[in-house]
Amino acid sequence: MELADAEAAGCSQGARAPGEPGDLPGSVHNQLVPTRSSSRVIVHVDLDCFYAQVEMISNPELKGKPLGVQQKNLVVTCNYEARELGVKKLMNIRNAKEKCPQLVLVNGEDLTRYREMSYKVTELLEEFSPIVERLGFDENFVDLTEMVEKRLQQLQSDEISAVAVSGHVYNNQSVNLHDVMHIRLLAGSQIAAEMREAMYNRLGLTGCAGVASNKLLAKLVSGIFKPNQQTVLLPESCQDLIHSLNHIKEMPGIGYKTAKRLEVLGINSVHDLQIFSSKILEKELGILVAQRIQKLSFGEDNSPVTPSGPPQSFSEEDSFKKCSSEVEAKKKIEELLASLLNRVCQDGRKPHTIRLAIRRYSSEKHYSRESRQCPVPSHVIQKLGTENERHSYGRCSQRQRNKLGFSTKWKN
Ligand SMILES: [Mg+2]
Repeated sequence: MELADAEAAGCSQGARAPGEPGDLPGSVHNQLVPTRSSSRVIVHVDLDCFYAQVEMISNPELKGKPLGVQQKNLVVTCNYEARELGVKKLMNIRNAKEKCPQLVLVNGEDLTRYREMSYKVTELLEEFSPIVERLGFDENFVDLTEMVEKRLQQLQSDEISAVAVSGHVYNNQSVNLHDVMHIRLLAGSQIAAEMREAMYNRLGLTGCAGVASNKLLAKLVSGIFKPNQQTVLLPESCQDLIHSLNHIKEMPGIGYKTAKRLEVLGINSVHDLQIFSSKILEKELGILVAQRIQKLSFGEDNSPVTPSGPPQSFSEEDSFKKCSSEVEAKKKIEELLASLLNRVCQDGRKPHTIRLAIRRYSSEKHYSRESRQCPVPSHVIQKLGTENERHSYGRCSQRQRNKLGFSTKWKN
């Protein structure tokens, strides 16, 4: 791949064709609106030590103390007080306690409260733009392109030249207020700041944000200043950001297995991948993967922000470590089912399929998975429907009512 290709598509300002959607009246505005494909404004919002924040909100006495959230024998996340004292994510409990004897541990195996808070964050972000894609519990991408366009349309030309950045600019690059992409990204940084402020004022949560022209770059730049800060990436610094990665495996979108295969081919750095023969890469990894990851190495990512909507499935799981008989295992399954049904009821939609999956323990670290599924019997669906009407209307969020159209049905 030629570097120029990537720059034209992802990392620099593109030429604007007249009559494109988003054209504005007046010559100044027309100069300020480039083509839609080259001018996306994407924000990546990443909550700080999410589980720990949820715990501190539930129990304010934990605030200010070094706090770790425990699952099995690991600290899955910890607050910044604990990080300052040497505790790290995914440290085992014994090491963490050795590093920081005053570490307060809370059990984080029940994900209910984290999940609920996570959806509240997504709903809040959807108030800004309907195009929100969830990534795990604590990250969201938001496509701000339309919103930025609208905001800039409302501004007079003298106001546009006064648009200021909110937060950091990657590389401390100076802003050019005559550059269309700069103005658009600055407007995006202001919206990102408003989102973070709303998250804090309404949910009590802090997080970082990265603003850039695509998902890959937004995700990479959001982690530059942490915690509770935000950074915008201007197109000219794209290559610096990409080359700041120490290894190809740090690139979002390149998984563990692909990184291993790249290593075998002698590709370790982003630069290695950029200059590697496209032909050979396509032969080794297939055309689609090869082209996608080579584009990523230039900072190019045309993947859209895909609205996640409500979850497509609910699941509960347990390692059954404390069970030593069939009776105990059945009891545990009943507990899991009760929790699952409660969540299904609260959601309000009627499920179609139920699946049971088991993973056999093996000392050789090789786990085999097996699953069976069947349609949910109609009498159970009907029963769920009545439960919903009786219990869930008040708890069902506005978003769910809107998206699932249950409000009229329940009001009847
Ligand atoms: Mg996070």
